[in-house]
Amino acid sequence: MMRRALLKALFFSACGLMLPATVVRAGLTSREQGAASPATPPARSVKRRPVKRRPLVIVVDPGHGGADPGAVGALGTYEKRITLEVARKLVRGLDAAGFKAHLTRTGDYFVPLRKRVTIARRYRADLFVSLHADAFRISSARGASVYSLSVSGTPEPDRALRYLVERENSVDQIGGVDLGEVDDPTVRDILIDLSQKNARNRAVAYGGKLLTALKQVPGLRLHFRAVKQAGFVVLKAPDIPSVLVEMAFLSNRDEEIQLRKASFQDALVKALIRGTQSFSRTLSLA
Ligand SMILES: [Zn+2]
Repeated sequence: MMRRALLKALFFSACGLMLPATVVRAGLTSREQGAASPATPPARSVKRRPVKRRPLVIVVDPGHGGADPGAVGALGTYEKRITLEVARKLVRGLDAAGFKAHLTRTGDYFVPLRKRVTIARRYRADLFVSLHADAFRISSARGASVYSLSVSGTPEPDRALRYLVERENSVDQIGGVDLGEVDDPTVRDILIDLSQKNARNRAVAYGGKLLTALKQVPGLRLHFRAVKQAGFVVLKAPDIPSVLVEMAFLSNRDEEIQLRKASFQDALVKALIRGTQSFSRTLSLA
């Protein structure tokens, strides 16, 4: 019964519904679900009691840091500095907008990529956003891009999640689902796969909302019109929807100048907040 409820919860979750609510729904007995019996008014007139959700937890990851400067522009701008400046503003803005945001690094020091993923897990992140500034050998390349973890041809994340489950007995919460009571390895694998697919789908949806908002930043184009899929290590939090934003090109002189401007950074931050709000509304409609 427990297994069926969990599977059902993950099925709904894979269809884009909020997991906590569906877990609750899946846990109802048929009598409880049948509360809207013939004696009660039609479902349409029944007002749903608003469900109080905890704020979405968003971990913002300023790319690079310390001995790893990232890209360096022709004017000497370090990617690691731009990412930290924008990330700090983004965390403040997200908190002010009612989210709960955290940084993976708060200063100019090196944080290994896998550690960033661990930090996101420790905060029980609902979303993970890694900020970067692009570089390319052709200096005319310009614009913003958003990446999510590639969906196909990457067996490693699957292994990563299984490994995580095996290694950390304490980690029995995967994507909000309690695996502690699931002994059957096949059922566990199905749950893990569904949780991972759900995280990837959400990352693509979230990335899409960010792109739509970024398109409206004055003076910024989109380098790619759709969310690109890539196997960045920093995106491999197997059960947390994760996106990587290349804000603009530091290798493009015009964009390097833009990235240094507080007004441009503020416009980027506003767009990222708008995109996050837009995505979070799709969750509350589910
Ligand atoms: Zn970078």
